[in-house]
Amino acid sequence: MKVLIFGAGQLARMMYLAGAPLGIEVSAVDVGSRIVVNPVSKMPLSITLDEAMLDADAISVEFEHIPEDLLEQARKTGKLLPGMEAILTGADRVREKRLLERLAIPNCAHRIVDDVAQLDEVVDALGEKLILKASRDGYDGYGQWRLASRQDLPALKQELAGLDLHTVPLVVEQMSLFDREVSLVGIRSKEGLVKFYPLAENLHHQGQLHVSIAPAPGCSAALTAQAEDIFTRLADGLGYIGVLAVEFFQVGEQLLVNEIAPRVHNSGHWSMQGADTCQFENHLRAICGLPLGDTQAFGASAMVNIIGYDKLNLELLKIGGCHLHWYGKSVRVKRKMGHINLVGENYAKLGRIMLDLADYLPDSHFPHLRAEGQKLQSI
Ligand code: ATP
Ligand code: MG
Repeated sequence: MKVLIFGAGQLARMMYLAGAPLGIEVSAVDVGSRIVVNPVSKMPLSITLDEAMLDADAISVEFEHIPEDLLEQARKTGKLLPGMEAILTGADRVREKRLLERLAIPNCAHRIVDDVAQLDEVVDALGEKLILKASRDGYDGYGQWRLASRQDLPALKQELAGLDLHTVPLVVEQMSLFDREVSLVGIRSKEGLVKFYPLAENLHHQGQLHVSIAPAPGCSAALTAQAEDIFTRLADGLGYIGVLAVEFFQVGEQLLVNEIAPRVHNSGHWSMQGADTCQFENHLRAICGLPLGDTQAFGASAMVNIIGYDKLNLELLKIGGCHLHWYGKSVRVKRKMGHINLVGENYAKLGRIMLDLADYLPDSHFPHLRAEGQKLQSI
């Protein structure tokens, strides 16, 4: 079978690697140049985009910000999975909020702002601790501004003055004082069967995911059920096929949806070593109409992102249960260069492995490792 992925980054690469054993051939489209490439070598393939779409059994995406004409062309083939609505919803925070409201799914108090003059009223309504998000083209914390106090509002308004908010409005959210961030990665098949990986706990730094722990420690059955119910309502509501990720803020025993990602997700990378069938393979299975694989986790896993750093000491590969996934990119500040998956029989062993790994990596780029390793050891 053949699958064409829009986007030729690390997610397409990992889908390619997961598809190979099943005989699924994955190729990728660089959506800037519209050239079809091998997702690992990035070398152009001798096929045009039109031919590749015709040739594919399924077409999917590795990120949601795809030019709409391309999506439209893919939709017309009848092979685009997940569907257009799901991808457009993931790409536009205004649509996303509307979907959450329509399905009565809890999320942060917010307002849609298409003129900076509205911000005074928003502060009156939601308070002065706000996070402002461009409704389109944001990721990894880009396209976000924070307001800490009303005093800073004039400066913030000035900063936003150059934006065309009528075309791309802001979603302004109340800052949530959450206890932690968790995410649920799951899959829905063509028959409507839904499977879930365990909830992952996500640790961010400067708006970017640094570490995921799965299963998230200390999840009650009720919390998991809440997450799975929300996931199922979203996936059924969108008629979704493939892997979907839902990011949550946990406040006590209540989950608020932060955002959804209509694709394989960074917080599911641990599943490559830590689960029976990884998210990449399960996405391919779902969109190719194959039976879904088991999502059960083995012991406790962590995923450590390598961000803006390429001086890895490969001696770290000595550590048992430690697996490197390097994406082959040139280094830039805040760029995801690769990740390291860690698997232990239980949290204590995972904590030990994390502390061993911390000895090879600088705290400056890996700010969560030591504290998290120590915490896991004491569970
Ligand atoms: P990513 O691509 O990493 O998912 P993103 O750019 O899509 O990021 P969000 O997920 O909306 O943006 O926000 C990034 C992070 O900023 C969140 O994971 C969370 O740590 C913080 N954040 C976002 N919204 C809020 C909020 N309303 N209250 C508190 N923190 C928030
Ligand atoms: Mg996010």
